[in-house]
Amino acid sequence: MLQEKAILRIPGPTPIPPRVQQAMSQPMIGHRSGQFSKILKETAEQLKPIFGTTQDVYTIAGSGTSALEMSVVNTLAPGDEAIVTVSGAFGERFAKICERYNITVHRLQVPWGEAILPEQLQSFLQEHPSAKAVFATHCETSTGILNPIKELAGTINQHSNALFIVDAVSCLGAVPCEMDDWGVDIVVTGSQKAFMLPTGLAFIAVSERAWKRIEEVDPRAFYLDLRAYRKSLADDTTPYTPAVSLIHGLQEVVAMIQEEGLEQIYARHELMKEMTRQAMRALNVPLMTSDQYASPTVTSINPGDLFDAEALRKTLRTKYNVTIAGGQQHLKGKIFRIGHMGYCDPQDVLTVIALIEVSLIQIGYQVELGAGVKAAQEVLIQHG
Ligand SMILES: *Cc1c(COP(=O)(O)O)cnc(C)c1O
Repeated sequence: MLQEKAILRIPGPTPIPPRVQQAMSQPMIGHRSGQFSKILKETAEQLKPIFGTTQDVYTIAGSGTSALEMSVVNTLAPGDEAIVTVSGAFGERFAKICERYNITVHRLQVPWGEAILPEQLQSFLQEHPSAKAVFATHCETSTGILNPIKELAGTINQHSNALFIVDAVSCLGAVPCEMDDWGVDIVVTGSQKAFMLPTGLAFIAVSERAWKRIEEVDPRAFYLDLRAYRKSLADDTTPYTPAVSLIHGLQEVVAMIQEEGLEQIYARHELMKEMTRQAMRALNVPLMTSDQYASPTVTSINPGDLFDAEALRKTLRTKYNVTIAGGQQHLKGKIFRIGHMGYCDPQDVLTVIALIEVSLIQIGYQVELGAGVKAAQEVLIQHG
């Protein structure tokens, strides 16, 4: 097997574009230098349209979870109540972080594979009027659901004063996010998903309203104290040593995003989602999510008793050097997930579908060879 040709189609980490890889291999520079400050300032500015905000976006050295934790510990005090919407493993992670900080959590839970609906949230808000924050997951990576953040924000802003805090780790940069217009208070993401970078950076944007709350809450974090990041960014620097090489990579990523254009990027992800879904349908392989709430970044497939998801993954990995993801928690071993975000395009989608077909035959599940590829090709042709 040609190791360098490994195909990584999991919902993060995702492949790194060669030019980003190259940018990250530049010689080290001092993080308090004018040279670095300039890069930090420029990237912070160029991140704003991706979040749909005019507020500052802070870059943290840490994985995505560090910024999730930051959004909790800076906004809520022990004993505060919060609503956490849980549509899968990552919603549950938010709930656990809150509990660790002695927040009283009310979980609004839906079965895995379903989205959180505004009407469900509306009645939940009425049941828990003291909630000071509502947490949601934009793309629930464990199931491939894209929760309707804009509508949920509308519901919250109409019925409560709670802050709305969103984990967009596995979709920001691949789907529209209009933080300011929608009325979202905090949006969090990480580097290793649609941002086409290695793991190690987290990003967080904070509304004016959230800042007011943060200023009222006694600080409980040190490394994750948002105020320190705000104070430093005003001087084009960071409170602690930043991940300089990753930020060199980020500089290249924001340039790539500007070159392609956000609208084109969103359209590419929609197209890859549609190609993947139509291919699976043509192969009679059951999708886990409805069309309405399917994420453009990851597609989950639940074969049930039709075939063994793990056998398929193993064949893909061992024979064809293709890695797709399995299920998490109670879905471990039962489902598989195809990541199609970041440095990924229709060419990659056709390849993975073709190899899934071959592998399905090899594990003994009869499909019509080429049927999935054909369906995806038709989507691509229609797209023009
Ligand atoms: C990947 C991911 C995270 C962050 O995980 P880290 O391993 O800490 O980077 C958080 N939320 C969602 C929805 C994710 O997909």
